[in-house]
Amino acid sequence: MASNNSNEKNILVLNCGSSSLKFAVINSESTDLLLSGIAERLNQSDASITTKINGTKNTEALGEMNSHLHAIKQVGHQLKLNGLIDTIYAVGHRVVHGGESFTQSVLIDQDVINAIQETSGLAPLHNPANLTGIKAATELFPNLPQIAVFDTAFHQTMPEHAYLYAIDKTLYQQHGIRRYGFHGTSHYFVSREAANVLNKPIEQTSVITVHLGNGCSICAVENGQSVDTSLGLTPVEGLVMGTRSGDVDPGLIIYLQSQHQYSTEDIDELLNKKSGLLGLSQISNDCRTLEEALDSDNEATQKQAQLALDVFCYRVSKYVASYTCALSHLDAIVFTGGIGENSDYIRKTVVERLNLMGLFVDEQKNIQARFGQGGEIQSENSNVKILVVPTNEELVIAQDAARLASAQVTN
Ligand code: AMP
Repeated sequence: MASNNSNEKNILVLNCGSSSLKFAVINSESTDLLLSGIAERLNQSDASITTKINGTKNTEALGEMNSHLHAIKQVGHQLKLNGLIDTIYAVGHRVVHGGESFTQSVLIDQDVINAIQETSGLAPLHNPANLTGIKAATELFPNLPQIAVFDTAFHQTMPEHAYLYAIDKTLYQQHGIRRYGFHGTSHYFVSREAANVLNKPIEQTSVITVHLGNGCSICAVENGQSVDTSLGLTPVEGLVMGTRSGDVDPGLIIYLQSQHQYSTEDIDELLNKKSGLLGLSQISNDCRTLEEALDSDNEATQKQAQLALDVFCYRVSKYVASYTCALSHLDAIVFTGGIGENSDYIRKTVVERLNLMGLFVDEQKNIQARFGQGGEIQSENSNVKILVVPTNEELVIAQDAARLASAQVTN
């Protein structure tokens, strides 16, 4: 049976998607990553699970045992094999949508499960999968505290003028239609890391955090609190993403429905799966592939990739400039996420359009920051610092889980 030894705060972090399960064991005090992995294509015959420990990867087919519950059982098996099972102190679950019910992470009980269930309409692909993970982990680890950490919670400090859409207000009152924002754990983490780099208390630090990965969002963080963010009611609004459109004229939906017989499913597919970098380039949703295509011998391929990256970068620059109006002052712009951490091309192109605001990148520092270490990349004449900070959403989940589990033990 798993022990609750408070000296050894290893946390099992679970991130359950509709057909995947990402997992990690993190020591919340040393911040060491002890084991990680992913189960993919769950509920399909070709489901598999890959575990990484001490730099070695091992992939196994799940065969008939391909449900979320089976995958979590397999994680439990790996924990046993690697001598970690008795060191797990709590389980932290990433939950995508907390609606207005959750402004911070919580210890999971039946009321919390009901509230996540009630919010499922706002995240029909994500919340039910998160609940499946919670149910399976509770069944397998009945003695461990289970903690929910919400993507939306950090943004609950946004003021009304930032989160309300200019539509009939009764839709907000009756159906909760408003901006919620996502990637909260990432914006929270990198804004704190930025304050450390700037050597300022977080309560006096104002930054714009730019999370660019397969999903992308930007956040204005005033004195440590989210005051605006680009993802909205759902994770489609705002920046151009891998396959998601970001901002479009909502009239487009009416036009496609009335003039081109698009169904609700067609529109969902278009905006979530066939848009963004993929839709524009017709090549790939993957930024690295598109950057490689810039050097293609094929002129048409090269032009298509360039266009997609131009639209992507222009949108980011436009958002950074507009988010200055949410802040009293600006200490730094912070790039994070797979693209933000690794692509010197994207960072340079985004900042070039911000020269008018006095932001300039140092070419050499920008290239050096590519190798995952992060750092400051502004040039000497830049008015504002520009930082690259690797995100660590799993660590935020592990630390919140450890804190809440300890509080439970203390109480
Ligand atoms: P994430 O969702 O945070 O894992 O980020 C995935 C995105 O990061 C994909 O579009 C990748 O192509 C992109 N990415 C990762 N490494 C690089 C790189 N070296 N250059 C450009 N894009 C990268």
